[in-house]
Amino acid sequence: MRASSGSKFRWPARDASAEDVLRWALDEFGDKVAISTSFQATGMVILDMAACLTGGDVRVFSLDTGRIHQETYDLIVAVRKRYGINVEMLTPDSVELSRMLTMHGPNLFYEATAKRRLCCEIRKVRPLKRKLATLDAWIVGLRKSQSQAREALDAVSLDEEHGGLVKIAPLANWSEERVWDYIRRNDVPYHKLYDQNYPSIGCAPCTRPTKPGEPPRAGRWWWEDEDADKECGIHVSPTGQLRRSFDVLLEEVLPPIR
Ligand code: SF4
Repeated sequence: MRASSGSKFRWPARDASAEDVLRWALDEFGDKVAISTSFQATGMVILDMAACLTGGDVRVFSLDTGRIHQETYDLIVAVRKRYGINVEMLTPDSVELSRMLTMHGPNLFYEATAKRRLCCEIRKVRPLKRKLATLDAWIVGLRKSQSQAREALDAVSLDEEHGGLVKIAPLANWSEERVWDYIRRNDVPYHKLYDQNYPSIGCAPCTRPTKPGEPPRAGRWWWEDEDADKECGIHVSPTGQLRRSFDVLLEEVLPPIR
């Protein structure tokens, strides 16, 4: 059931709490909804809430790009132990990855934004698209105040970028303080890089700690223009000249269709 085929479900109230939105999503979509997380603080809050609501009977998936931090793997082990959840790990297509690495080398992301977007496309966006094609809804840890690009975020929306499935962001209106208050009060396991001044955590070569006064996502792809959108393509697609350069690179890398 894709939402674009018509409103076949009742939407939660606009002022519904995060728990209510989550409960609604799990009831409404059953095993056709899954939590997508990279194990940042918001993802851990959602995971903990969902585990409390379901006793651990909830689907969770994550992208293993091949370049994530050891601390992220450690947290996945902690999640398995604490909640008994076998996280579904999504990996890049081996042929696409091999062609990209052969053509552009392992650290292409430092050379140009279009190449960085290509790496994110092969390691994150395409594996995610394959997973989302099997679901009716996905749950994400986005918050409005994380960046300008996310200010218009709704707690529940139709995700036209991914074929009209339902995108659920239960913490859309939460502040960072509220997230950390929940983590402390409920003793939720969290990513250890937060203790080393990483307010936003992605792949190891593309994330650095931030300095005092910097915005939270300043440590992501820090070598790029500071006005860049700091997105990987999952939630915000490239546009304009960047889109054109990216499209050329992607077409070269994708294996020919026989
Ligand atoms: S964050 Fe960096 S290493 Fe990870 S997929 Fe994007 S460019 Fe590649």
